[in-house]
Amino acid sequence: MKRDIIACGQKVDIGTRVVLWSEQEGFECPNPRGRNSCSQHDPSLNDAPSQKFKNYKIKNPKTAYQELNENVYQLVLHYDVCYTSSHCHQLMRESPFKGSHFYLDLDGTLFQTCDLYWKTNTAPSDDKKGNERAVHVEISNLSWEALAKESEYYPSKQDKYKKTDKGWKLVLPQEYKTKILKRPFNAIPARTFGKRGYFSKKVNGKTVRMWDFTEEQYKSLEKLCIGLNKLLPGIKLKVPFDKKTGRHPLDRLNNYSRFHGVLGHCHVQNGSTGLECKYDPGSAFNWGRLHRAFKKTKP
Ligand SMILES: [Zn+2]
Repeated sequence: MKRDIIACGQKVDIGTRVVLWSEQEGFECPNPRGRNSCSQHDPSLNDAPSQKFKNYKIKNPKTAYQELNENVYQLVLHYDVCYTSSHCHQLMRESPFKGSHFYLDLDGTLFQTCDLYWKTNTAPSDDKKGNERAVHVEISNLSWEALAKESEYYPSKQDKYKKTDKGWKLVLPQEYKTKILKRPFNAIPARTFGKRGYFSKKVNGKTVRMWDFTEEQYKSLEKLCIGLNKLLPGIKLKVPFDKKTGRHPLDRLNNYSRFHGVLGHCHVQNGSTGLECKYDPGSAFNWGRLHRAFKKTKP
């Protein structure tokens, strides 16, 4: 079973399944780009239009790895507003510029879509330089699309989570259910809130109502962060935390461009410079859990 993540050909075993772009079940990033700060590729790859995947070649992997380590220091977390990772990939393919280095499916399976040397246009950040310094992961979760009264892209009369004898579960359309690698699989939120099941908190000024990610997703995410920190040590095992309040902030950080570690799309982009305001990974994401996992890892 393959469990490596890859940057400039260097590998780290992260201890959980990672499906690479080169595997049969894998996904190739439809729109990779060269990073401006890295020199080991043809500069025409920095801009649109996207070229054939095989054109994205690294000249000297050793130099490339050095350059990447000097310039990349953030892992940015996203929810994908999709049913599953295969659904997410389908939407990325329909776009002329979107992509993400990693997808994290409901069952905890990670997909790496290209070598981390490349840039993916996942979160420009308010300073519009965000993708240059970051690696991204799109974690499957419908966010508020799961609520009937707030659904817009996938309208339905019923909430997409259902309460059963065993608790809450995501009701997946058959076409997506069959594409999850672990089958049969029930997508159960890791935590639920009260009777209603979903969480509700303000993120960058908007009340975000959503069900939690799955236990399997949290476990794989912890391993991804720890593995990435080994591969690209600039990405510190650190999450946004306010020492004064003892809380994990959910709004855009003041020092977002200098933060070295793991943070959310919401922490780097509130739309103050004209971009879209972002809320992911949302109100249900358990920052405390990641924080505790990192503390245990540190020597
Ligand atoms: Zn995002």
